[in-house]
Amino acid sequence: MKMIVIIGGGVAGLSAGIFAQKNGFESIILEKHHTPGGECTGWNREGYHIDGCIHWLVGTKEGTSLHKLWTTVGALEDVDIYHPDTFMSCEHGDFTVNLYRDIDKLRSSWISISPEDKAEIEILCEDVSRLNSFEIPTDKPMDLMNVFEKIKLFASMKEAGTIIKKYSKIALKEYASRFKHPAIRNTLANFLPEGYSASTLFFALASFANGNASIPYGGSKEMAMRMAKKYTALGGKIVASCEALKLIINEKKVSRVICKDGETFEADYFIAACDAHVLYEGLLEGKYNDKAFQMRYNNPKDYPLASNIYVALGYEGLVGDIPRTLRFPINSFKINGSNIEHLTLAHYSYEPSFAPEGHTVLTCAINQFQQDYDEWSRLTKNKEAYKQEKLRIGNEVVEAIIKRFPEMEGKIKVLDVVTPITYERYCNAYRGSFMAFLPTIEGKSLDHSGKIKGINNIFLSGQWLQPPGGLPVAVVTGKDTIMRICKKEKQSFIS
Ligand SMILES: Cc1cc2nc3c(=O)[nH]c(=O)nc-3n(C[C@H](O)[C@H](O)[C@H](O)COP(=O)(O)OP(=O)(O)OC[C@H]3O[C@@H](n4cnc5c(N)ncnc54)[C@H](O)[C@@H]3O)c2cc1C
Repeated sequence: MKMIVIIGGGVAGLSAGIFAQKNGFESIILEKHHTPGGECTGWNREGYHIDGCIHWLVGTKEGTSLHKLWTTVGALEDVDIYHPDTFMSCEHGDFTVNLYRDIDKLRSSWISISPEDKAEIEILCEDVSRLNSFEIPTDKPMDLMNVFEKIKLFASMKEAGTIIKKYSKIALKEYASRFKHPAIRNTLANFLPEGYSASTLFFALASFANGNASIPYGGSKEMAMRMAKKYTALGGKIVASCEALKLIINEKKVSRVICKDGETFEADYFIAACDAHVLYEGLLEGKYNDKAFQMRYNNPKDYPLASNIYVALGYEGLVGDIPRTLRFPINSFKINGSNIEHLTLAHYSYEPSFAPEGHTVLTCAINQFQQDYDEWSRLTKNKEAYKQEKLRIGNEVVEAIIKRFPEMEGKIKVLDVVTPITYERYCNAYRGSFMAFLPTIEGKSLDHSGKIKGINNIFLSGQWLQPPGGLPVAVVTGKDTIMRICKKEKQSFIS
């Protein structure tokens, strides 16, 4: 039986492991952290559970190929799904703009806010509806398709192609400026971190509208643990708290991996389901750099990366009818010299087990970019200053929430403040990234095969292969990597 060593036990690594076992390989996952899941995680604080990842999961609709894949790997097996009515609600002056799941409701509510934007609103709704049947391809990676399969794929992507052509070269902010009403303009411009192209908006809204982007009950950590359970039930082994440091290469083949504690693992194949930068610059010591990645690392303007400050709060009360995700203006405060003028608050009232009875857990995600990471990186060298800055941000967030919701005064406490350094420390995430390179209008799209030029038995897997990444890319690329290994072994792939 051929042996595969998988470096990284995030969603991509777990997916690769599950398909490795299903296809008759022996496999082992080496995970740096004490638990699998990677960025798909959650943790407990003071009687609350903080969900650190899923705000929406594409592939929650039964009957879609991605749902089938999520079920196969155990992630959505026997799990109920929570379908919020709104993707997000944005307050601006006296107006609240709701991004409803129901597109007709979205259309009529937006037109009632801004009749003068009727024509643009109609176009938006029509283009979202065009993607109604769009599904992320999960069947086979492009490099394994024959010409007929490629033609079939392109034909099935006709509507998606139209939307990409129409919106991928327009920045989200520029697209938003087509709308006259400031509340609608503001909602659209801030729907995703700055830099995203407008096409992303349409794909996100379409998946939400057609019921394919919702939230599995139990949250991120439970989902990752279901995958881990599936993997071990199939005979796979997870070695936790085991950081891979170096790959030993002989005659165009990796022979073994050396880990931080000195342990070594030998295998026929290796899969790097960790951060791409860890593979190229760490494990391969910069000796096998890939042009496509180098070009992106060297050009952060066209290929920006985003990270987060994630503030988790415990509220001694129930939130009533506050929308699941609400963006609202605040009296600004500064982080790394930039003014924070809005907060996006999410609550988990639909998950009673996440908080003690009668309480609710709340989170606020504040996007961080290139210069923010540099500041955090500098600050973290002084442990006390880093701690104080996290405390200050937590308190600023609490103050801003109380200003908006005075009934919460005296009832909110900061549970945790996560920074870009946290993602770097726990997941080895390059510059604290929570996704791969953002799809900007200048940047080129990437669909990488994960092959490493000059080495025959190692593959990169995970979200970096198909920017902007996310959980669906992780699960699909994990499976795809095993398909490539099956091809090398001249055996049929078992799905
Ligand atoms: C706050 C937040 C919210 C998010 N929300 C969503 C969402 O709503 N929907 C969505 O689709 N996506 C979301 N994402 C993104 C999603 O979490 C990631 O795209 C996905 O988890 C990436 O999976 P991965 O397996 O490719 O990589 P990772 O999760 O980064 O896994 C890599 C694993 O490799 C391990 N590792 C790294 N280096 C080594 C080494 N040298 N040796 C051993 N192990 C190593 C890491 O510890 C980690 O476990 C969110 C992310 C964050 C942080």
